[in-house]
Amino acid sequence: MSVPAAASAPTVPPVVSAAGATALSKVYGRGEARVVALDSVSVEFERARFTAIMGPSGSGKSTLMHCVAGLDSASSGSARIGDTDLSALNDRQLTRVRRERVGFVFQAFNLLPTLTALENITLPMAIAGRMPEPRWLETIVAKVGLAGRLSHRPAQLSGGQQQRVAVARALVSSPEIIFADEPTGNLDSRAGAGILAFLRDSVRELGQTVVMVTHDPVAASHADRVIFLADGRITDELLNPTAERVLDRMRFLDS
Ligand code: ADP
Repeated sequence: MSVPAAASAPTVPPVVSAAGATALSKVYGRGEARVVALDSVSVEFERARFTAIMGPSGSGKSTLMHCVAGLDSASSGSARIGDTDLSALNDRQLTRVRRERVGFVFQAFNLLPTLTALENITLPMAIAGRMPEPRWLETIVAKVGLAGRLSHRPAQLSGGQQQRVAVARALVSSPEIIFADEPTGNLDSRAGAGILAFLRDSVRELGQTVVMVTHDPVAASHADRVIFLADGRITDELLNPTAERVLDRMRFLDS
């Protein structure tokens, strides 16, 4: 009896990566002022996963995020969003990738003070000449608990509510990947926990891909995977982290 070819040669599913870097290095300054912020970093950010990037101050977390998000350029090596090699793009093409394929959540919220919550949420899509699908917009607004506050301006909202507007703004266009840079850095622990839960739910329930830079072990424990950076290199990785295990690894890195 002949065995079907497929049974004798099982195919390995390809790694599904939303973004990544290969031998990515970033050097600032020259001579005495030369700083190697990233030293040949290779990493993949899988789709529909929540990855935290951790490490001491100055370890290269923000630089890694900025290079993979197309906000900064590599000195050597490459960074990718999906299959797109960012080093091959000019400034205009990079702006388009960021606008159409990437979402951002920053520590400082970065909302426009004269616009309402709803206008802030829909602004990036409007700039890209698109409109959110009304039912999807409603789903996102309900998910982050802003239904009664859409006509408020940022100054009329608490810090936690402002960051929820920023998370909704990032989610509404269903970008290929969301980069969050210390998203809970300006919030008290309760408001911060709410934001982390929204980010985690967006991965689990909506299939969103999220990469978050943080130095907080509790924040990192919400992720599926934690990558540790030290002196511009990836030194360790943890799956299904708890705050305690993250803290343990951090102590090891600091010692
Ligand atoms: P982290 O986010 O982990 O605190 P960064 O990525 O901000 O670390 O910085 C990594 C290293 O690169 C640090 O030594 C920092 O001083 C240096 N660095 C970052 N940005 C610049 C810059 N624009 N010019 C010069 N050095 C920089």
